[in-house]
Order: sequence, then C-alpha cells, then structure tokens
Amino acid sequence: MTGTFVGMPPFPSAARTALADTQLRANLAHATSTIRAKRAGVVAEVDGWEELRLAGAAIKDNTLLHLDEHLLRLEESLTARGATVHWARDAAEACAVVVDIAKRYGAEEVVKVKSMATAEIDLNSALEAEGIAAWETDLAELIVQLGDDLPSHILVPAIHRNRAEIREIFRSSMGSVGRPAPEDLSDEPARLAEAARLHLREKFLRAKVAVSGANFAVADSGTLVVVESEGNGRMCLTLPEVLVSVVGIEKVVPTWSDLDVFLQLLPRSSTGERMNPYTSTWSGVTPGDGPQEVHVVLLDNGRTRALADEVGRQALRCIRCSACLNVCPVYERTGGHAYGSVYPGPIGAILNPLLKGVGVDDQTDSLPYASSLCGACFEACPVRIDIPSVLVDLRAQVVDAHRAPRHRVPKAEAVAMKGAAFTFGSGSRLGAAERASSLFGRLAGRAGRRTLPGGRRLLGRIPGPGAAWTDARDLPVPPAESFRAWWRRTGGRG
Ligand code: SF4
Repeated sequence: MTGTFVGMPPFPSAARTALADTQLRANLAHATSTIRAKRAGVVAEVDGWEELRLAGAAIKDNTLLHLDEHLLRLEESLTARGATVHWARDAAEACAVVVDIAKRYGAEEVVKVKSMATAEIDLNSALEAEGIAAWETDLAELIVQLGDDLPSHILVPAIHRNRAEIREIFRSSMGSVGRPAPEDLSDEPARLAEAARLHLREKFLRAKVAVSGANFAVADSGTLVVVESEGNGRMCLTLPEVLVSVVGIEKVVPTWSDLDVFLQLLPRSSTGERMNPYTSTWSGVTPGDGPQEVHVVLLDNGRTRALADEVGRQALRCIRCSACLNVCPVYERTGGHAYGSVYPGPIGAILNPLLKGVGVDDQTDSLPYASSLCGACFEACPVRIDIPSVLVDLRAQVVDAHRAPRHRVPKAEAVAMKGAAFTFGSGSRLGAAERASSLFGRLAGRAGRRTLPGGRRLLGRIPGPGAAWTDARDLPVPPAESFRAWWRRTGGRG
C-alpha cells in the first residue's frame, strides 16, 4: 500500500511542484533545523571528531579495496554460525529470495525493520504481488505506509508530515489493516506513539517471518548490526521464527574494532545523540533463542558498478546517517520526493546515478545537477565523502552520455562548444573573432535595450537557438574594443 517512485519526473520539474507546497517547506525547515542543532551540539563535544572522520573514511576505503575477501570471510563466519547466505546481483534476485523463503514458510505477512536496502529493491511490492503483506514497524515508515505515501528522508521517512497530519493518517487508515487508532486520538507525540505501539504489537506477536536490513556486517564474527531508536527493530529481530536480512555488500566491516568507530560517528551524525538507544547484534542461529532460521541476502544492485568508478566509489563509504540532507539548502526547500528515489538529498544525487549508471533515464541524469555545490554536505559527512567533487564528475559523465553519435545532428550546445574550442585553439582565430565581436559591439551598442548603472548596455532577448539562454540571463553588448586591441593601442597605460 505504499506508493512508488517509478515514473517520477526529472528533478527540476519535481522540485518546482515541491517548492509550491508551503506546508511541506514549513515542516522541512522546522525538522531539519532541529536535527542540525542537535547534531552540532553533540559533535562539538568530541575532541578529535576530525580524526574519527578520517578513521571512518580510511576503514571504509581499505575495506572496499579488498571487498571480495571481506565478503567471503563474512559468508564463512555467518555460515559457521548457522545462517544461510544468498548472493543477489540485482533487485529482482534479492526479492525472489525473500519471497521464496516467505512462501516456503507459508507466511501471509512479514514484519519489517526499517531498511533502506529493502526499500531500494521495492521488496514490499514484490511480496504484495505474491499475496504477502509486509508491515513496516518503524514509526516513521509506518506513517508513510499507512498514508500510502513515499519516504522523503533517510532517517525520518515521514519528515514532510507534521503531527496533525499524522493523527489524521492514523485515524483514517489504521483500522483497515489492523487495530484502529483510538477515537479520541490527539496529536500529542505520546498519544501517537501509543497508538502505533498498540497497532504494531499485534503484528509482532502474530508474524512468523521478519525482514531486516543491517547497518553493518562484521566479517570476522559473522555479526549483523542494526541501530535504531524505538525498539521495534529488536522485536522483529527476536520474536519471529524466521529472519531474513537484506544487506548491501558495502555494509561489511572487517572487525569489531572497526565497528567501534562507526558506532561513535553514526548516532551523533544522524539523530544527534551520543549513542543509539538500541544497538542489536546477531550472528546466525542460537538453539531455543530467537529466530531458528536465519538468512542473509548480500545485495549488489549496482554497487560493483559504483566501485568501478574511481571518483564515485567513495559514495560506498556512506553509513546512511542523513547529516548531508539536513544541511543541504536544496533538500531543505524541496524535500526528498523531488529526488525520485529512496535515497534523496546530496547522497541520493550521487548514489542513484552511481548505482543505476548515467545516460539510462532523464530522471537519474538530472540528479547530479540538484545541488548548488556549496560543500555543506562534505563538511557534515562523518566519513568525509567529497560529494561536490563526485557531483561535478557525474555531471561530466552525463554530458558525455548525451553527446550525439556521429551520424546524428548534434545539439546547439555541442556545436557552440566545438566552435569555442576551435576559436580559442589559435591566437589568429581568436583575434579575428574579437575583431568581429568589436564590430558587432559598435553596431549593437546603439540597439542595446537596457543600460545598467555605470553605463553597461544589455541586449534584450535574442531570437533563435539562443533564446533559451537569454530568457534566464542578461547578455551584455560586446565591448567596442577588445582587451588585446586596447593593449596594442595603449601598451596598458591607457
Ligand atoms: S553521504 Fe555522508 S552525510 Fe550523507 S548520509 Fe552518507 S554518511 Fe551521512
């Protein structure tokens, strides 16, 4: 019952729609400024925060350098502890594994721990297509699911909703899928949380199969780790008889000492807390305690493609803290839906093209441009992902992907760039162009439509292929004398 990002328009048009929603902008401004302030406070408490960031980045880079070895070690450790490991090249393979396990167990419903990986592969739709209901148990994910909505933030998927909207969603939708919300439900946070708790408790006690992701996977011991704030994840991880975890292959860390660094970086960067209220770890099967069948699906789905990108591979360091979203001036105004993906904001602007590849669809190709390149995301990122540099590199890849093949008519922009390269490639050609421009300037100076203070004349809208350019920019009248002509005439003393 959750919507889909499939068919979303490119970022500029989706952003225009989002910007017109004043309620959305107010909700976002309030939520992001609150989280930003909390994060800044707890980060400032840590002496050596920069050293921690450097350590996090170095551990991730070293792990990615030998990813194959660490993954095989993880598989070996998990298997030794009684888990079954599956490898999935793409979303379809991963969904098929989970659906197969649920069907084999005769499950008509599964409970889910909040998981970006399962949202990425749209697991809920795959389960629904087989008649299996997937219940989100994270409060924000529950709000999104009951509202037939889409997530708009990595950490707080319902960040675009305020309390009054959430009360309405609970009152109108809870009853159709389980225990209804109380008649007198108010928009007090405690009352909303109570309604969600009572609604979910029935599902926890009934479900035989649970699905989770993992924030980290420790190769040495075969341990999966989930951090969360509500405790719902722990209910999913311990009560059902079967547990299936879908884990991106970049989540592996070699040892517990490596994990230690990320458990310091993540809570401060995400919820602005010193530590996560719930850190759950599990390794395989323990007879008589917890799930008696444990499966781990190691998901590629474009990660090896991203790994092959020399500039972009640093995006695989991401620990999904969402700090970059909360400081991004673009995200704060448009919200997450405009990015058309479960990964919104600055990390989404690079991760989506890296996972899917550029030149595949216009929506994905528009994302590297969804940034002012201000650099706030890099400053906030706990694993020092240089998002602006990756954005610039991806923009170049998008341009390359859209170059017309030799047999097709090239775009006006490509012709203009080729002409500029030809002109700037020789001093005599540049001189001739300057003389032509000066002549044009003398003639056009009289035709200039506007004069700015200081006497600078501007041309109006020019017709033809240049119209789109001059619709959004001022085109100054070329000077009547070029710099080189002025230098020849005066020797620089005029
Ligand atoms: S890119 Fe960095 S700041 Fe953004 S979600 Fe990932 S780890 Fe957090």
